[in-house]
Amino acid sequence: MIRSMYGHQAIMQKGKIFLKSGFVSIIGRPNVGKSTLVNAIVGEKVAIVSNKPQTTRQRLQGIYTSENGQIVFLDTPGIHKPHHRLGEYMVDVSTRSLEEGDLIYYLVDATKPFGSGEQFIIDQLQNVKVPVFLVVNKVDLLDKEELDRVISSYTRHFQCKEVIPVSALNHTNLEKLLHDTFACLSKGPLYYPEDHYTDQPMSFLSAEIIREKTLQLTRDEVPHSVAVKVEDFCEQGENRWYIRATIYTERDSQKGIIIGRNGQMLKKIGELARKDIETIMGAKVYLDLWIKVRKNWRDNEANLKQLGFSLEDR
Ligand code: GDP
Ligand code: MG
Repeated sequence: MIRSMYGHQAIMQKGKIFLKSGFVSIIGRPNVGKSTLVNAIVGEKVAIVSNKPQTTRQRLQGIYTSENGQIVFLDTPGIHKPHHRLGEYMVDVSTRSLEEGDLIYYLVDATKPFGSGEQFIIDQLQNVKVPVFLVVNKVDLLDKEELDRVISSYTRHFQCKEVIPVSALNHTNLEKLLHDTFACLSKGPLYYPEDHYTDQPMSFLSAEIIREKTLQLTRDEVPHSVAVKVEDFCEQGENRWYIRATIYTERDSQKGIIIGRNGQMLKKIGELARKDIETIMGAKVYLDLWIKVRKNWRDNEANLKQLGFSLEDR
């Protein structure tokens, strides 16, 4: 159940009684820029981003509120062929969110013409009853002619309500995207207070930021084998916070890489993460980072549950 409702007196009192609101599910293959798009629209870091596929593991809400109303974006893990239990969970989360939106953005990478991986997504989209926008991202990387070719490679296979080319990275055409999105939504309440931009608590965002830095600084199999859990998150004096977090890996060798020579890598991850967390919280943070090996946690039901990957808890 995601539709909890909050009071919206503040905006109503300004005389805006024709507010619109709704949920937009963003789906697409890994690495097409779903999380970048949500962050760009919301204007804050809701979801971590990396150039490695399958960075997003949970469904996250990014909340955009303007004088027109409120759009709750559901950022999802990419739809891909799963190779372990965690992957199955991620694909499950993505396909479920198809049923939760009032509108769907089917996000594709403009540098990649229609391919077999897209067919599976399109098959799923045939059954949905809500409108679908084909949002063609990364248009900063190609010229108009190439873009037209890519767009027709998609529209040949699939009927959608609108095609909107954007660059999430450069914020190109996002105003049109938002304008057309509001046009599709109905009058409705604000689901969250005006100043909220995510449904996730700061402890979750902190864990994700630590994971992002680990992903950005490591290569090969390490990024996929990492999970981060915040174990302690408490205020220690005025505007000072203590956060204890554990980075889990699957093998001793990966643990070694993350610790690095003389602990340099772990130190760097901690420093970068702490700075980002401090910026978001507007407070001083002491970040206490630990690292543990949990063999094959991605295929272990009990470990997955303990690390927060459970469909029952949703
Ligand atoms: P997701 O897996 O679909 O959530 O993709 P991410 O948001 O994590 O982005 C994957 C990669 O694509 C990152 O390296 C982003 O910086 C990059 N990216 C996202 N949007 C754009 C864009 O509009 N232009 C370019 N050039 N790169 C982008
Ligand atoms: Mg993502």
